[in-house]
Amino acid sequence: MTPYDFDRRIECGRCLSECNYSGLSSGQAIDAIRKMRSGDAGVIEYVLDHCVFCTNCNYFCPVDARPAAFMIALHREQQRRRKTVPASLRYMINGMEDQGWHHNFFTDLYTDHTKEEKAVMAQWREPKNCPDSDLLWCSCATRIFPGDIERSRVLSGLPKFGGPSDCCGLPAMRSGLFEAARRVADNLVDRLHQSRFKRLVVMCGSCQDMFSNLMPEYLDQNFPFEIISIYEYLDEQMQAGNLKIVRRVEDQKKTKPDDICMFHSCYGHSFGRAYLDAIDRLARAVGYECTELAHTGEKNICCGMGGIYQKGSLRDILKIRKFKKTDYRDAGKKNLLAYCYGCFFISHLFQRGTAHFLLEKVLWALGDDIDTPLNSILGRAMNVSTIKHMTGIAPSALR
Ligand code: SF4
Ligand code: SF4
Repeated sequence: MTPYDFDRRIECGRCLSECNYSGLSSGQAIDAIRKMRSGDAGVIEYVLDHCVFCTNCNYFCPVDARPAAFMIALHREQQRRRKTVPASLRYMINGMEDQGWHHNFFTDLYTDHTKEEKAVMAQWREPKNCPDSDLLWCSCATRIFPGDIERSRVLSGLPKFGGPSDCCGLPAMRSGLFEAARRVADNLVDRLHQSRFKRLVVMCGSCQDMFSNLMPEYLDQNFPFEIISIYEYLDEQMQAGNLKIVRRVEDQKKTKPDDICMFHSCYGHSFGRAYLDAIDRLARAVGYECTELAHTGEKNICCGMGGIYQKGSLRDILKIRKFKKTDYRDAGKKNLLAYCYGCFFISHLFQRGTAHFLLEKVLWALGDDIDTPLNSILGRAMNVSTIKHMTGIAPSALR
């Protein structure tokens, strides 16, 4: 892990005073960073209790000292000191079943799959031999509703891959659980090595964040495959004339195309202009005229999901979600457009108004049928396994 650069320190406190969640003034932030560097446990605890590990403070530092590496290293130490991982945090992490973490949110959601969905999952888990084609990586979130993706005419040219326990490792990484993150990520890389393909098309931005940012920076490991996001892939195909829009949101009676704001994800800005331009072009092609929220780019606010990575408490999701809620309220729009699975789920469940998922809308606009929209997530979560295991983790999830 490339460390926080102590040699270039000036202790200006901007990393913490400009952080959306710390609540520290400039003077308090200078004091806090000094105390954190000298190991003051109380101050470290306070800062970690407010940090969502978005890494945006790297943008605020005037001498490029990489303060996010400091936050992440402290979080890792904090998790080590805890000795046991809270049950609710373990439950959010897929891919650790062989280490005794028997149940998790994703595999519980998969238990209610229909016969057709189970057959799709069985097919997706197998390695693919497609040296002349790109491969579609179907992540934990994508596999909740695999049917529409498998039947998609738009995505029919892409072989699909992703077994029930295959995960990029990001939830473990962002939770400070480095050993778990490495194990899960290594397993996925090994599994991908069994396939042959040109580029990996990544449907989930969190996976892309793990592969292109977190893995090389914090696990000293380069992701050994060329990757392209699903949005850049679809944009590329549309620009090449291989895909064409056949319907737009204004064709739907109830939709006002400009009554919507863009909900950027934590990682969006870090992927660069080309990624954001592809998102923007696709949103416009579908017919949306999105308003930007007050905090975007380097100052983007987390949807709330980052709260769970602190100690696995659902209360922390609600605590962090409030920051985005304020931006959303101030924008005065009734709808929001998310391009990240996590942002969509959190916003659908915990924000007012209606959440739309860009990938789903683009596939629809390009002619696909969407039989199981992502907003049916709550229904899918209401199965015996999920309810039983969520009841079991309630003491740590609700503290
Ligand atoms: S990682 Fe994000 S939340 Fe944490 S201190 Fe830096 S800017 Fe704030
Ligand atoms: S890490 Fe950078 S922004 Fe934070 S106190 Fe040090 S010099 Fe300032």
